[in-house]
Amino acid sequence: MLEQLKKQVYEANMLLARSGLVIFTWGNVSGIDRERGLVVIKPSGIEYDKLSPLDLTVVDLDGNIVEGICRPSSDTRTHIEIYKAFPKVGGIAHTHSTYATSYAQAGRAIKPFGTTHADYFGGTIPCTRKMTLHEISGEYEKETGRLIVETFGDLNYEAICGVLVHSHGPFTWGVDALDSVEKSIVLEKVAHMAFNTELLFVAVGKGGGIPMQQDLLAKHNSRKHGPGAYYGQPKN
Ligand SMILES: [Zn+2]
Repeated sequence: MLEQLKKQVYEANMLLARSGLVIFTWGNVSGIDRERGLVVIKPSGIEYDKLSPLDLTVVDLDGNIVEGICRPSSDTRTHIEIYKAFPKVGGIAHTHSTYATSYAQAGRAIKPFGTTHADYFGGTIPCTRKMTLHEISGEYEKETGRLIVETFGDLNYEAICGVLVHSHGPFTWGVDALDSVEKSIVLEKVAHMAFNTELLFVAVGKGGGIPMQQDLLAKHNSRKHGPGAYYGQPKN
């Protein structure tokens, strides 16, 4: 079942492995079939070079295994909460990539400092609050997903397609599984650049940094994603 989706989720997981953002069995990518309400996700604890599309697990939106002999990623419930709250998300990726995770560990959002950020993220990439003891000791992975949704509040999840979970790491999403991995790769690059930029601001006595102009952010974001987008070649 869901052979096409499995193939894409497999390719997305392998892209994540090749990207250098994950080591060992870290990280996971999923994709959703919205019509059937089924999620395909990497199995838990299987190394990428031993992974095959047949190993991927299919779960429903209650977390029940619908197909697959492997236990799904331990983060499955987090993915499901994001899918349930953000209806246009088609794929989700999770990593512990170094710079994005460094921001998460410091509990700091990533401010937009330049057009690299603006091309992909239409504003500050938020960091969640710390989890409570109740959340940690309860349904931890589900609560992580709920925390992400809570953090977005009035924010537009389509414009800002990623989040930092406090003391943990980033989750990114996109129209499908491959797109979500692209967002993870760009997020890590943006976090690395922001880190360097913040250091340079400290060096010139402007600790905390000064974000880019809102007009420039809006210009770059809309030329790629807005209704009148003109970046790249027209889609037919
Ligand atoms: Zn994690």
